[in-house]
Amino acid sequence: MGQFIDYQQFDSTKSSCMEKFDVCVIGAGPAGYAAAMRAIDFKKKVLLVEKRQLGGAGIHHGALSSKTWWELSREFYHIRVQSQVYNFDAPKINFSKAKSEVLAAGHERMNLLEHHMYNLNISHGEGLFTYIAGNARLLDKTTVEITKTDEKIEVHADYIVLATGSRPRNLPHIPTDEKIIMTSEGIEKMDDFPRNMVILGAGVIGCEFATIFSHFGQTKVNLIDKGDRILPFEDEDVVRVIENNLEEHGVVIHRNSRLIEMKIEDEMVVYTLEYTDGSKEVFRVEKALISVGRIPNYENIFDESLGIEVDERGIIDDLTQTSVPNIYAVGDITADIALVNVGELEGRYAIERIFGKPKKPLIYENISAIMFLSPEVAGVGLNEIKAKEQGIDYKVVSLDYSCISRAIAMRNTQGFIKILVTNDEEMKILGMRVVGEHASSAIQAVALLISMGQGIEELAELIHPHPSIIEGIQECVRMLLNKSILKPSVLREAMKCRSCTGGVYEDIVF
Ligand SMILES: Cc1cc2nc3c(=O)[nH]c(=O)nc-3n(C[C@H](O)[C@H](O)[C@H](O)COP(=O)(O)OP(=O)(O)OC[C@H]3O[C@@H](n4cnc5c(N)ncnc54)[C@H](O)[C@@H]3O)c2cc1C
Repeated sequence: MGQFIDYQQFDSTKSSCMEKFDVCVIGAGPAGYAAAMRAIDFKKKVLLVEKRQLGGAGIHHGALSSKTWWELSREFYHIRVQSQVYNFDAPKINFSKAKSEVLAAGHERMNLLEHHMYNLNISHGEGLFTYIAGNARLLDKTTVEITKTDEKIEVHADYIVLATGSRPRNLPHIPTDEKIIMTSEGIEKMDDFPRNMVILGAGVIGCEFATIFSHFGQTKVNLIDKGDRILPFEDEDVVRVIENNLEEHGVVIHRNSRLIEMKIEDEMVVYTLEYTDGSKEVFRVEKALISVGRIPNYENIFDESLGIEVDERGIIDDLTQTSVPNIYAVGDITADIALVNVGELEGRYAIERIFGKPKKPLIYENISAIMFLSPEVAGVGLNEIKAKEQGIDYKVVSLDYSCISRAIAMRNTQGFIKILVTNDEEMKILGMRVVGEHASSAIQAVALLISMGQGIEELAELIHPHPSIIEGIQECVRMLLNKSILKPSVLREAMKCRSCTGGVYEDIVF
């Protein structure tokens, strides 16, 4: 692990005179950091203020920490499986050791960002970049008050970028103490694996933690799902694989259940569920994880009198610009997709709007995303649920992993690739889902084609490396063009090619 750097040493702001900046970015999570760095490209004098930890939820109690947990748990799960195959004793897992690895990952990333900041002025010009550790608040539309540990200072900036992110939603009737009943902020406060736990919320984060804890095999996980299936925004075929695996790993999914009470009793969580038939059941577990969404951090950052429009989902913005023209808002604080890559995109776009002209419009349709489940799920563009909601007719082609040599070599053929294209001659790609090993690395080519508005011909003819999962994508598009190597008319279960018109499916027969 590298050395921590004390940033006060390059905090050039003096409390005696008001320092002036071209832009002040409030919040150094992924969105704020990306915005500040883009401002450097324009040779602007930029101030970045962070009240807690550099990297925000992109690193701590968020994207990087949870992915480190996921990687560790997955590796451990594979070793456990291999120990049965090769007949050796399954290793023991130590929570403290795993936790220290997660913290080390966070420090490693934070140190990189710190080192990078520290050396920016050396490489880009003295006085261009300033970082202050403190709590920022707007006094008016160009004056920021920063409360540091030992003093308050005021700075002036022509432009402000608000990037203060989000925090876990707490439910008023649940006594969340971050020790026994936790949100994602409490995971690293635990000292050991609980013997059993309940997760409230079957969205992405809830399901990711159900996967992580069930992979480690030390915790019996219950997952409360108010609907009849987890991940309600995802297509049924995708969800089916994930649900099966969770249940195979011992997760109990409380479907169609309503939490009517959760309390702490004798250091244990006691919760009561009510099912659709009116029956009730009481459970007792060691820990609870509340995962019911996140809320934007905009309180105490500006007064209402400033005129920045907000609603309960966050700051209302017009392509990152708020209702106050020199103030921009990016990342989780705005009412759109809460992802690291979206925050970074918005942060960079805001700066390009302020100091230049963005080359590309800010479009949210083709955002690639990964869900770290078992197996991983990667997606870009529309899925079938969204296409139907938008009244779009489409062709859909899918290929089982059992047809892909690389998956066979990995001895893991669970999963499939599914591609949606327009239901016309052009067959423009609308979206894709990959469920299975290497899913995340398989989607980029298709993401590029979607963003370029291209059809599938190019992909069908491109030489792909062998053996690779992306060969499956190629076989999918060849299927649509009636020139696949394996024929769907023969491998009916593993290869499907259908059209969906007004919600009605029909096999495509060439
Ligand atoms: C458990 C979990 C897992 C996730 N996994 C993924 C994933 O796999 N992939 C992905 O893309 N996304 C993931 N996300 C979402 C991702 O972490 C967020 O979308 C992203 O961090 C948002 O970036 P941001 O910069 O807008 O906000 P944040 O990351 O929340 O950063 C905001 C920063 O602003 C600071 N701040 C707040 N108020 C002030 C103030 N007044 N003055 C100064 N500083 C202030 C905060 O301390 C914080 O550091 C995950 C989130 C969670 C919780």
